[in-house]
Amino acid sequence: MLKITRQALLSALQGAKETHPNEFICLLRGDKQGEDWLITEVILTPFASYDKESSSYSPYFIPVGGNEIASFHSHPYPNTAYPSNADLQMFSRTARFHFIASNPYRIQDTNAFNSKGEKISFELV
Ligand SMILES: [Zn+2]
Repeated sequence: MLKITRQALLSALQGAKETHPNEFICLLRGDKQGEDWLITEVILTPFASYDKESSSYSPYFIPVGGNEIASFHSHPYPNTAYPSNADLQMFSRTARFHFIASNPYRIQDTNAFNSKGEKISFELV
């Protein structure tokens, strides 16, 4: 089961709100705990481009540490919390889990996916 602390998800969503109508991106740090993965921390990526014209994924957007286990990004447009084709390629190359939030960036506007782009459930803790 994928778990994320309420505080970590809310701070990512806050970033999405503040960056709207541009796209917001961050990485999420966490650890494996028994059978579960627990995300506890948001990491702002210094190289992320908040430009709605270009794709969000610069070559720098690659987790380097061992515990950047997930990505998060917003979808101002199209307003859907499902991955684009570019997202699916990025998902398979980078982190283990990926979150996408659509406008207006509430918890219920957020979906989680595995690296294959399959929607997975997550639990707030
Ligand atoms: Zn996307």
